[in-house]
Amino acid sequence: MDLQIPLSRLKGVGPSFAKRLEKLGLMTALDLIYHFPFRYDDYSKIIRISEAPIDQEVTIKGQVWNIQNSSSRYGKTLTRAILNDGSGSVELVWFNQAWLIKNILSGDTLHVSGKVDRRQNKLTMVSPTWEKIIENSIGLHTGRLVPVYPETFGVNSKWLRDKINSLLPLVLGSLVDPLPLEYKEAMFSLGKALQTIHFPRSFTEINLAKTRLGFDELLEIQLSTQKRRADWKQKQSAKGFKINESDLTTFTSSLPFELTHGQKTVLAEIIEDLQKPQAMNRLIQGEVGSGKTVVAAIAIYLSFRNHLRSLLMAPTEILAMQHYSSLKKLLEPLGMSVGLYTGSSKFNKQKSGVISQELLVKQEDSPNDSEARDPQPASTAKRGELIANSYPNVIVGTHALLSEKLLKENVGLVVIDEQQRFGVKQRTILRQQNNNLKNLAPHFLTMTATPIPRTVALTIYGDLDVSVIGELPKGRKPIKTHYVPSHKRLDAYAFMTKKIAGGDQVYLVTPLIEESETLVSAKAAKAEFEKLQAQIFPQFRLGLLHGKLRPKEKEEVITRFKAGKIDLLVSTSVVEVGVDVPNATIMVIEGAERFGLAQLHQLRGRIGRGGKESFCLLFTEQEDPFVIQRLKNLENSSDGLKLSEIDLKIRGSGQLFGTKQAGRWDLKIASLSDVPLIEKTKSVAKEMLKASPELDKYPYYKGKLAGQSGVMPD
Ligand code: ADP
Ligand code: MG
Repeated sequence: MDLQIPLSRLKGVGPSFAKRLEKLGLMTALDLIYHFPFRYDDYSKIIRISEAPIDQEVTIKGQVWNIQNSSSRYGKTLTRAILNDGSGSVELVWFNQAWLIKNILSGDTLHVSGKVDRRQNKLTMVSPTWEKIIENSIGLHTGRLVPVYPETFGVNSKWLRDKINSLLPLVLGSLVDPLPLEYKEAMFSLGKALQTIHFPRSFTEINLAKTRLGFDELLEIQLSTQKRRADWKQKQSAKGFKINESDLTTFTSSLPFELTHGQKTVLAEIIEDLQKPQAMNRLIQGEVGSGKTVVAAIAIYLSFRNHLRSLLMAPTEILAMQHYSSLKKLLEPLGMSVGLYTGSSKFNKQKSGVISQELLVKQEDSPNDSEARDPQPASTAKRGELIANSYPNVIVGTHALLSEKLLKENVGLVVIDEQQRFGVKQRTILRQQNNNLKNLAPHFLTMTATPIPRTVALTIYGDLDVSVIGELPKGRKPIKTHYVPSHKRLDAYAFMTKKIAGGDQVYLVTPLIEESETLVSAKAAKAEFEKLQAQIFPQFRLGLLHGKLRPKEKEEVITRFKAGKIDLLVSTSVVEVGVDVPNATIMVIEGAERFGLAQLHQLRGRIGRGGKESFCLLFTEQEDPFVIQRLKNLENSSDGLKLSEIDLKIRGSGQLFGTKQAGRWDLKIASLSDVPLIEKTKSVAKEMLKASPELDKYPYYKGKLAGQSGVMPD
């Protein structure tokens, strides 16, 4: 059987179901087999009717003695059947399913799963799941561990179970287990694992299946990151920087503070990398406010002192503008010119004019230092002094930087902020386009505020060297965080009113909506803004910030908020990173349950920057104790890493970066908290790459890495 056969051509699926399955991301026969249950209902214990406990989920096997329809008082059709298993009888009742009497006949053997109730000394089961059993066969929907799948409109778990069950033998017949024999050890074969994940006989079996399938997932990641790391080390030659102690002193003595111990350590690691004739590929991980930007600015300064230009890429325009203004403050006094490029020409044209047509870079007055104006020695300037002269020494921008020739201009260092949002692809483009410094690559420095547990970092960032800034600058006050249930909402508004009246400013973040749905979230934010302005805070000045605003408008809103001309800023989660307003002391997050804990922690990192006491209020309409308990973790902990680990345990790795798509890797089965499996796959990948550096010995994996399956990035 062709495993890639489109589902529409599969017997029993057809075009209309194929359309629905597309919503679940399922296109081919193999996709359907890799659509895994997210839980199992335990209907495995078949209970004798005489021993059936009341009000608990049970499965009963018996014979139908009688089945008939009747009408209830309210015009519904009632179908009643008597099921007997020799030990006793139970009455089964269904509503409005008159057709059942055509499917279930007297004399049939049935499995029924549901809760048993006792009414007037009679045992009944209302709307049980049922399944006809033929002679000693095992049921699919009852009498076993029953898989429950992610569903979509018109496709329920029962349907999926049936289809997967009939498809499995065909697929398993043509599936080759790609894992080399020597690494299989005691693990399930791929076929057995796939069979078992759908139709297990016990929870022990489920775990064994998960181990095998998780192994496969992690192995692919390990192979991919390790291979990329090896390729990088081999191919990416760079210009090693000459680093003078005096340059470092110049920079650090210009700062109004001393670097933290963490910043110093990370800086030392970066400096060591930069001196090598091999491109640095390092990730700085540090909480919001830990001072990553300053460290990056030092690297940028060192690049400048080596007559090279730098680029800083941020995921959003707002962030790019923030970085632009911080870098200006840090670097212009040291004789560097700083430019902004966001790719939205409206924004750039004001104040530009200096730069050639193809490069609309916003540039402030150039400093006087002649070396700063032309970091490129005249002898190597091929495209003409004039253009080279007009590039700023460091250009800050969004991904729009990628599409420009900026990349070709003597770039020695590329800094990427919040890199997981860019995805691996863009970074690859960046690397390729940069190979112009006599075919030398620039050094790469990426930064992330997402707290990543070490095991996770070593896996998903296995191709990068990771540095951690593990502390915040001294003197930061902890942020008081409160979960606010709906009935306390008005109290919270009263509290905000008092604070604003006292001169404080407030961020209010509207619920997280899928990143792709900018329009929807913009609308929601606007509605919230209008409601608050009209009904709750008519006396205050409210502002609105969302992804659909034009860059100019965004800049205006932020500038007004910074200047204290907006009291309360309603915003989508775009403020998550970047904006720095010390006078803002309250962070309100609506629909807090939709965010990951690490993300919430990042959001509240926006406040607590000045000397005043700061508060984070987590609003949720949900009353589920699990949801509340989860949010309460934020009341008790200010350790981002710990929070992300809790998240990892409760919500799985897919949620670590907020929305799944934003993550670098999509894991279906494996848990990034499964350290032994991570270690195991790491060493297997290492061995495989040692035995066959280009993976020629393992064509299946070579193909996977080449991106044929669509599972792997790059
Ligand atoms: P990050 O990018 O990690 O979120 P930033 O680099 O933007 O953090 O720094 C946050 C704030 O802390 C900035 O206002 C910065 O000037 C300040 N800062 C950075 N390092 C220190 C330090 N060592 N001591 C005091 N303040 C610092
Ligand atoms: Mg930052």
